[in-house]
Amino acid sequence: MNGMTIRLDQIPVRQIKGVSARKEEELHAFGIRTAADLLEYFPFRYEDYRVRELEEVGDGERATIQGKIATPPVVQRYGGKTRMFCRVAAGRMLITAVWFNRHFLQDRLTPGRDITLTGKWDRNRRQLTVAESEFPGSGAAKTGTLQPVYSVGGGITQGWMRKTIAQALQQYGHLVPEVLPHELIERHGLMPRREAVMRIHAPGSAEEGEAARRRMAYEELFLFQLKLQAYRAHTRRKRDGVAHTADGASIRAFAAGLPFELTDGQKKAVNEILHDMRQPYCMNRLLQGDVGSGKTAVAAIALYAAVKSGHQGALMAPTEILAEQHMRTLEKWFAPHGIQVALLTGSLTERQRRDVLAGLQMGMIDVVVGTHALIQEDVHFRSLSLVVTDEQHRFGVGQRSILRRKGIHPDVLTMTATPIPRTLAITAFGDMDVSTLRERPKGRVPIKTYWVRHDKLDRVLGFIRREVAAGRQAYVICPLIEESDKLDVQNVIDLHQQMQQAFPDLAVGLLHGRLTAAEKDAVMRGFASGGAHVLVATTVVEVGVDVPNATLMVVMDADRFGLSQLHQLRGRVGRGSHASYCVLIADPKSEAGLERMRIMTETDDGFEVSRRDLELRGPGDFFGTKQSGLPDFKVADLSSDFALLETARDDAAEFVSREAFWRDPACARLREMLMRDPIFQGEQLD
Ligand code: ADP
Ligand code: MG
Repeated sequence: MNGMTIRLDQIPVRQIKGVSARKEEELHAFGIRTAADLLEYFPFRYEDYRVRELEEVGDGERATIQGKIATPPVVQRYGGKTRMFCRVAAGRMLITAVWFNRHFLQDRLTPGRDITLTGKWDRNRRQLTVAESEFPGSGAAKTGTLQPVYSVGGGITQGWMRKTIAQALQQYGHLVPEVLPHELIERHGLMPRREAVMRIHAPGSAEEGEAARRRMAYEELFLFQLKLQAYRAHTRRKRDGVAHTADGASIRAFAAGLPFELTDGQKKAVNEILHDMRQPYCMNRLLQGDVGSGKTAVAAIALYAAVKSGHQGALMAPTEILAEQHMRTLEKWFAPHGIQVALLTGSLTERQRRDVLAGLQMGMIDVVVGTHALIQEDVHFRSLSLVVTDEQHRFGVGQRSILRRKGIHPDVLTMTATPIPRTLAITAFGDMDVSTLRERPKGRVPIKTYWVRHDKLDRVLGFIRREVAAGRQAYVICPLIEESDKLDVQNVIDLHQQMQQAFPDLAVGLLHGRLTAAEKDAVMRGFASGGAHVLVATTVVEVGVDVPNATLMVVMDADRFGLSQLHQLRGRVGRGSHASYCVLIADPKSEAGLERMRIMTETDDGFEVSRRDLELRGPGDFFGTKQSGLPDFKVADLSSDFALLETARDDAAEFVSREAFWRDPACARLREMLMRDPIFQGEQLD
């Protein structure tokens, strides 16, 4: 050990032989600046130059074979191009080898000479279209190897990249440091890092390449998980949060006063949340539950506990419609307890807004409900101790640090109705504790889902009429037209007219994104109070909207929606005790669209829907957007490295739970790596 160790990440790529100033610049475009970057620029697959027997090569496959030239080559010319062929004896077969535009090889193709050919095999014509050829003994390099294939482009060719990385390995390979604790390398029989970096670029066999890849994938996953787990542990160790003191009896009394009995799942989640809230650390908990599982009630109890402990709570919703709805619900539940609730959204008048801000600062308002504007810089609280965010939005490190700058260290409860498959959950939300609501409240009838083609529209209209005649209400969702906001609105207005013509005697409401917040609120209130029988809407009603009397959800052109979106839409019904239905109208044009319709009709369990959604789309697309918090792994592949991910997570959790991790010099390197991550900005690890 000496302090003068040469570090690969401090050696500019320019130091590698063959890297000119121009090449250096081109490498920068790939994010490659140092020798470490180049050595860690891993291939995404290998090209196989291992010699095979022709008998084993399938039709159309690319393969490398050995043979002896049997006839002199014949060159045909056409339009400036050439086609050259000769016969080659390969094993027990006589085949035709064909080269395009390689006639300069003609003189070297002398009958009787041994040759190795790599190319595409056409079994019927007994013909190999040659991509590359080598003569044994002529310093041949590729035959028998697996050649790495890198992502290249611009002025960087595959050949240059191979050569340069090989050169880098030769010059600096011995400096590759180990970063994993020795203990973990032993435990999982991992390849040491130096060897893995060499082998991943130049594996002696497919197994060796995979072992090297696996080692690097584990490292990547472990370091990622270590970051999340360390952050979680660090948050707990700091003890700078609010230890809520509300007494259990009062909280139980509040829960008992709700208009229903809590499900077992809700009780368990409430207990987990209250346990966290009573501790002096900052809670960072995810409450995941299928649509309609009753997350709002859980949030209300947590907010009640915050207020009864002498503090304030905030509930953030993704849309104004949802904020208004939460406002109505909480007012109803909190008013009997003298708890003041206020709404803070963009549609308040300047004066109303000033009043709310003043009320929050002085502590006259106990709970504030709003959209994400809630956490803006100019909102000050007397004592905010709990932030609840509803649906989708992750309360990120950025938002947390806005509050921290104001000296506020609230507990955070994030609610999501998109049940996340476990692998993704521990990746995207690994820094959080998770509570899960699996069941829906008792007495709910499962939602029946039907898929029909457009020519059955009349029957669907008849269905709507029957539900309305029975005293129920229906949603009709208009397909979204992604390219154009304007067309979208026109579309929903047309559909509304169509529905009005079909039901001249019914009240048909209209809801879309272009309405003002006040208009939206009026429409939603009208529908919630039974003033409209049918609500024609865009996906603005997608999340959270709760009208228990609505029992029929009709989705037009349903194949245009993603699975989780369809499941969310379906979740708008089945929220009361009446039998509920979801009708998907679609003539799917793609196999994926067809599969989505099938899945929807086969299950109404959100966990199952999301599992199959993940299967259909793969982890990268699962969350749709990049704000998911899912990292781009370089080596690891979430769709095949499940087991490795779980192992890495357990290892990381075990490590940070040890006191030694936070002090041991042997872990100094890991701690240093963590500190460089933005998640720890401005924090002291010890
Ligand atoms: P989500 O989890 O989708 O946000 P909500 O909180 O909106 O679900 O709850 C859905 C509906 O179920 C609401 O009308 C709510 O009042 C009702 N609800 C919640 N918990 C229960 C329960 N334990 N028993 C009966 N109804 C409940
Ligand atoms: Mg909800």
